[in-house]
Amino acid sequence: MTRSASRGAATTATVVVPIYMDNSATTRCDPRVVAKLLPFFADDFGNAASRNHVFGWRAEAAIEVAREQTAALIGCTPKEIVFTSGSTEANNLAIKGVAELYAGKGRHFVSCVTEHKAVIDPLKHLELGTIPGQPRAEITFLPVDRLGHVDLDALSAAIRPDTVLVSLMAANNEIGTLHPLAAIGRICKERGVLFHTDATQAAGRIPIDVEAFGIDLLSLSAHKFYGPKGVGALYVRREGPRVRLAPLLDGGGHERGMRSGTLNVPGIVGMGEAARIAREDFASDVARLRALRDRLEQGILARSVNAVVNGDPDDRLPHLSNVSFPYVEGESLIMGIKDVAVSSGSACTSASLEPSYVLKSLGLGDELAHSSIRFSLGRFNTEAEVDHVVDMVSREVARLREMSPLWEMVQQGVDLTKVKWTVH
Ligand SMILES: *Cc1c(COP(=O)(O)O)cnc(C)c1O
Repeated sequence: MTRSASRGAATTATVVVPIYMDNSATTRCDPRVVAKLLPFFADDFGNAASRNHVFGWRAEAAIEVAREQTAALIGCTPKEIVFTSGSTEANNLAIKGVAELYAGKGRHFVSCVTEHKAVIDPLKHLELGTIPGQPRAEITFLPVDRLGHVDLDALSAAIRPDTVLVSLMAANNEIGTLHPLAAIGRICKERGVLFHTDATQAAGRIPIDVEAFGIDLLSLSAHKFYGPKGVGALYVRREGPRVRLAPLLDGGGHERGMRSGTLNVPGIVGMGEAARIAREDFASDVARLRALRDRLEQGILARSVNAVVNGDPDDRLPHLSNVSFPYVEGESLIMGIKDVAVSSGSACTSASLEPSYVLKSLGLGDELAHSSIRFSLGRFNTEAEVDHVVDMVSREVARLREMSPLWEMVQQGVDLTKVKWTVH
């Protein structure tokens, strides 16, 4: 599937295409992770719940190592880790599980319009009253400003006596904007409400400490930090306060009753190793990602007039750059740079191409949202790849703009907002 790229005058070092720059969608499994987890398929294949033979003991011992490694990444104790199939499940478990067990306290939840669907949709289900056995809930979805931040006074004002849970993501998956976790945690503690954070994008990219930040529940997904797909975890605080959860699944009572089902031993071992690497290589990984991202962004901005960066340019994930290219159709741009894997600011729903709800919530119009590209770098990207991508993107933007009548009008000094369009 790989070829050498020769296109691009600015490219000196050889790069191999296709180039992967969609690390917010998923990351390549680190070869060190693969090496660690492989023996747990065919050699140490035991069920971690088998208590009466060595096959089970070995699997269980490996799970406990992974539990310690995962806990260390976020500063909790191993007993507070509940392994799941990923962040979608972890978010569902946190929200629906708390909603059920704290129904006596209240039915109000606070979240934000830029959350991932795996947070928004369970909350909407609660709001609609469509979760079996659960009464309807009220949800406050806080708006965000132009950079993607929630207003902390608005958060404080939204919390009511019947508020049970605040769910605000650590870092946004489309624009990278970081929420101030410590400040949010403080507000939640003062007001006596639980704080859940979806840290799927943040893990391994910003420091996370559930104690320092006052986090009660936290979702993780291994495949976003160089671990395998289909495995994740929910951190559930055991002390101060002890968080209680109703499980989503009934069964053998694994994971302290919170998540029944035979543990995915190879996946969990891989997640543990990925967490260990993320923690040990944290400083160098982040510095490298930030340097590559800045090189990419500066290169693109220097060569594409009018291109703008979305999200908070400072307070954001180190590996991500979301750029709008006015008068360029994002999907056309992606087609034009098909040797580069990136994401667009359009969400493909079954029927149509909808502009991203995250970009729209920042105040971007449909046009600008559709002209946006998310570049997300990873541990395996190189400087040569970045330079190659800058070159390809810049040429393609120039080519597409040459074909754009709107761009031509802008070049001639026409103010498009003042044009009266007639439809025939
Ligand atoms: C990827 C992602 C999810 C979903 O995680 P899965 O493990 O793939 O289910 C949830 N939230 C955010 C912010 C994500 O980026």
